[in-house]
Amino acid sequence: MQHIDKIYLNGEFVTPHGEEYFTLYNPATEEAIGRVRLADEVDAERAIAAAKAAFPGWSKTRKAERIEVLQRMHNAVVACEDALLDAIVTEYGAPKVRGRWMAQYPADVIAQAIETLENFEFVEQAGHAQVIMTPVGVAGLITPWNSNAGFICNKLATAMAAGCTAVIKPSEMSAIQTQIITEALHKANIPAGVFNIITGRGEVVGDVINHHPDIAKISFTGSTAVGKHIVASSAQSLKRVTLELGGKSPTIILDDADVAQSVPLVLAAGFMNSGQACVAGTRILVPRSRQTEFERAIVEAISTIQTGDPRDEKTEIGPMVSQKQWQRVQDYIRLGIEEGATLLAGGEGRPCGLEKGWFIKPTLFCGHNQMRIAREEIFGPVLVLIPYDDEAEALAIANDTHYGLSALVLSGDHQRGIRLAQQIESGRVMVNTLAHEPKAPFGGFKQSGLGREMGKWGMQAYLEAKAIMAG
Ligand code: NAD
Repeated sequence: MQHIDKIYLNGEFVTPHGEEYFTLYNPATEEAIGRVRLADEVDAERAIAAAKAAFPGWSKTRKAERIEVLQRMHNAVVACEDALLDAIVTEYGAPKVRGRWMAQYPADVIAQAIETLENFEFVEQAGHAQVIMTPVGVAGLITPWNSNAGFICNKLATAMAAGCTAVIKPSEMSAIQTQIITEALHKANIPAGVFNIITGRGEVVGDVINHHPDIAKISFTGSTAVGKHIVASSAQSLKRVTLELGGKSPTIILDDADVAQSVPLVLAAGFMNSGQACVAGTRILVPRSRQTEFERAIVEAISTIQTGDPRDEKTEIGPMVSQKQWQRVQDYIRLGIEEGATLLAGGEGRPCGLEKGWFIKPTLFCGHNQMRIAREEIFGPVLVLIPYDDEAEALAIANDTHYGLSALVLSGDHQRGIRLAQQIESGRVMVNTLAHEPKAPFGGFKQSGLGREMGKWGMQAYLEAKAIMAG
């Protein structure tokens, strides 16, 4: 059992004022693996005060000084990759191959922030005006459990590059990963108060951040429901808000797509991160003329997917993060059956031979786009195949959603795929690839978010433009 009983305030590990303990579980075995003492409202107030006190100094640092500090952060985070991988697999159940990517991502995004800062122009001329990009103030950074360390590092490095100081409220379910990252960041010798990390409940610590007049900006990654709550509760002080929220992303298979090339991409997109990915391609749009062929090929490929022990290199789908998430996914599978969708693979209950652990059978339905299983984010390995008659209908179905985070187009004709991509209402559209591009802006249309992270777009979100006109 790991006991985590400190938060990080003003450059030091300190005992929180909060006295509540939260139990951490290994989702593959259901065993309790740790306890974390949670921060409360008093701790949140202290963290905000520390970040506020550090802001005048940090916001005046020069680009070269910030790069030096970020470089130290990068080195420290690179050094904790193996410990992080172990924590990601144990605490969250990410399959090892995916977990390795997730353990490298925190250092990668710090490197990206350094590159952005190196190329960023803080002062520009606009006619007679000099435009100065000015750090917005103290940023409240709130992360989810499904890539906690990566989101902490991305948000923090970008905020610091812009000259902001930060209060970070990580997911309470990721306390072991948070501890590893916090220890690494501490070693980077960052000026006290520039970052503060307080693990606590969203409705306690999060709500102090949402309302506090000394928080100028919130960057949140998590569910659309909590994102809406943050917008409403931060409106009183008109905080700048960046939201990275949920999705129900379409994978559009065009009628000229090759089955053998397409199916691995369809399933990699759909079952990414055991289905617990905001960008997962959970609606698979197939041309009716080739429906049987694709259905067969996808069902056959699902039957070969290994679900189980995330430490096994061959495992592609690990457990759901919690019992609650397992139950939620089970409820959606039942709902799909009740809604009249055809169950093509998987279904209710645990996969054969797995009595312990929050495992789900990789599940494929065939249905239509008005079903709740095709409209709501399930956040598990549950996909819906939706037949369409022509390309216009495929586009209409793809865009008929409240979300707009990501999309995948599969076509034998690259240019045709790109033409369709241009018409999809989504922050990212991939054509015949799942390759990630960290230099490109990341974020959602519609209810998938507000604003963008990554690159200069992400950096601008921590800055105010000030125009100075001199006579
Ligand atoms: P969640 O919204 O339940 O929680 C996210 C964070 O918000 C946690 O730290 C939580 O404690 C905190 N929170 C909860 N209530 C709060 C409140 N009232 N005020 C402030 N903070 C509060 O999400 P989750 O279950 O941790 O993560 C899964 C969700 O995140 C999914 O919907 C997924 O699509 C989304 N997500 C989006 C992206 C993206 O980049 N768009 C990436 C990963 C995950």
